[in-house]
Amino acid sequence: MAIDLRSDTVTQPSDAMRDAAANAAVGDDVYGEDPTVNDLEAVAADRVGTDDALYVPTGTMGNQIAARVHTDRGQEVVLDREAHIYRWELAGLAQLSEVQPRTIDADGAVPSPDQIRDAHVAESLHRPGTGLVTLENTHNARGGVAVPAESISAAAAAAHDRDVPVHLDGARLFNACVALDTDPARMVRDVDSVVCCLSKGLGAPAGSVLAGDAEFVAAARRVRKLFGGGMRQAGLIAAPGLLALENVDQLAADHDNARRLAAGLDAIDGLRVPKPDTNIVQVNTDDLGGGAERFVDACEAAGVRGGAHGPSLTRFCTHLGVDRDDIEAAVDRVADAVRSL
Ligand SMILES: *Cc1c(COP(=O)(O)O)cnc(C)c1O
Repeated sequence: MAIDLRSDTVTQPSDAMRDAAANAAVGDDVYGEDPTVNDLEAVAADRVGTDDALYVPTGTMGNQIAARVHTDRGQEVVLDREAHIYRWELAGLAQLSEVQPRTIDADGAVPSPDQIRDAHVAESLHRPGTGLVTLENTHNARGGVAVPAESISAAAAAAHDRDVPVHLDGARLFNACVALDTDPARMVRDVDSVVCCLSKGLGAPAGSVLAGDAEFVAAARRVRKLFGGGMRQAGLIAAPGLLALENVDQLAADHDNARRLAAGLDAIDGLRVPKPDTNIVQVNTDDLGGGAERFVDACEAAGVRGGAHGPSLTRFCTHLGVDRDDIEAAVDRVADAVRSL
């Protein structure tokens, strides 16, 4: 069987999650009457230390709802050029909020306060004004980088000094918190909203939560309806989501597996693999003289699945569905793949 390291979204729900779904108490969540969704929203808000939270179908929808709530049409949104919100959400900022992204090169995975100050645009007769800053933690495209809470707070303070709100794309917030041993509530203390995916390393079949203060969440609830995300007996998928929140501590095992994988792959001639902060391993194949697509195809043939994320960049993710033996086998198989090239 292939070892699937394409993403941490490829996990199968556990038997306990399937049982929880089957037995969930449900109601119509658009009327606010699904007890399981209400529970999940309360527990999630408690975990991240916000007043309230909103269950949303996907991380993408959560990010796009946040952008819509925080901005006015035509404003600018400041974000890293490698941000998921900018690169991988189908220009949702332009399509759904009609705002203009202003990208910066946050090569440390989080913009510095100076970068935020420099990118800020004051509203005038000629200029639209900056309406939002978005941050990402962990930072996916930059290699699952865990950004320390102090850096998040410093970036947020620079935005707030200019009265600009801050949204955190925390699709893998709990990975960052586990890696840095930081309380999630501290991590998000200074941002105005945060999205966390339950369907990635935490193993839920679907769903994300968008958290913030009561006023933000009330506004987000309306935009969720506008975007077609108002679900009815959603407790069926929220129940596994509640169990997913119990998998937070287990993320440390994924991080350990990622470090082992990276060390094993880095020892293979032709591969350069930096030590990962969390569960995302980035493999540079420049020295192989072949592109990432070719490397990924060879890995696939050898029984390991990964994803090409740049001309010579391949991503492997560890997750609940792979253990240490799988990681050792994956290293051997990738070594075979490299030999075959
Ligand atoms: C996966 C991901 C998202 C989007 O989540 P979906 O649930 O797949 O829509 C947003 N941001 C980051 C950083 C992600 O990795």
